[in-house]
Amino acid sequence: MTSSNASGSGSEELPTCSAKGCRDAAVWVLAWNNPTLHTPERRKTWLACEEHREHLSQFLGVRGFLKDVVKLDEWVQPEGSERLR
Ligand SMILES: [Zn+2]
Repeated sequence: MTSSNASGSGSEELPTCSAKGCRDAAVWVLAWNNPTLHTPERRKTWLACEEHREHLSQFLGVRGFLKDVVKLDEWVQPEGSERLR
């Protein structure tokens, strides 16, 4: 029998920035939605460090995908979504 790995095993990984090549700790959550792929209430999330918040939010912003930029501390993950940590 395989036990589910839901609770992790002590090696706590901090959420890191979603920018390519960046391993910095995430400070911001960018919530976005691509209306051609997702239902309107669906939220995808990217994580960003202080340095990449602007870059990533511009990337999403010019496409009209960006919905919210929230401090990681204050982010409340919608019901049923994957947990960040
Ligand atoms: Zn970064």
